[in-house]
Amino acid sequence: MKNFILASSNAHKAEEFKVLFKGVLSVEPAPQSLDVDESGSTFTENAYLKAKAYFDKFAVPALADDSGLVVEALPELLGVQSARFAPELSSYVDKCQKLIELLKSKENRSAYFVCILCFYLSPEEVYFFEGRVQGKIGNELKGDHGFGYDPIFIPDRKEQDGKSLAELPDWKNEFSHRARASQSALQFFKDSVDKPLKKS
Ligand code: IMP
Repeated sequence: MKNFILASSNAHKAEEFKVLFKGVLSVEPAPQSLDVDESGSTFTENAYLKAKAYFDKFAVPALADDSGLVVEALPELLGVQSARFAPELSSYVDKCQKLIELLKSKENRSAYFVCILCFYLSPEEVYFFEGRVQGKIGNELKGDHGFGYDPIFIPDRKEQDGKSLAELPDWKNEFSHRARASQSALQFFKDSVDKPLKKS
């Protein structure tokens, strides 16, 4: 089994990865959390900066996740800046409420979550995987599972019951942006067992 340290102090992400990579990749919390300057202008750049910083510090393969919510009607506001939206508000309940408020006058409620995973095995071996989930921003917070913007994100599903990601933990583990990126990564690493990544 390949071992990685997680370049993040987000306990929710760590929990999700534990389920997503079960039995195939081992992803452990880093010995210490680093304050990485996420100065990139894309999810990919920021995922790379985080994975590289943890690899450089601890000298072991590192996995970083850079993710966020892109709201079509407010393109500048979240996206790569999702973690820094409304910094004056300390809780995600308040941030979600602020987002609902900002969207009151907008007809377009479409949004998507995106996740870029960066696996930094060595400076010569760096792999990226992307996942997305499309949906809409709801009018209220619903559900107790998940984290961040989950309570206001209504993913597009065939059921069309208006449930938020925070009400759908099992669905999230299978179809979220993080789940989809992780499934691509798992496939890649499974294939690489048959076909080694590097010639020795
Ligand atoms: P990062 O930790 O720098 O990647 O920032 C991620 C931002 O997007 C934070 O504000 C998270 O709350 C939000 N985010 C990322 N993934 C999810 C998710 O699965 N559910 C809810 N919010 C998420």
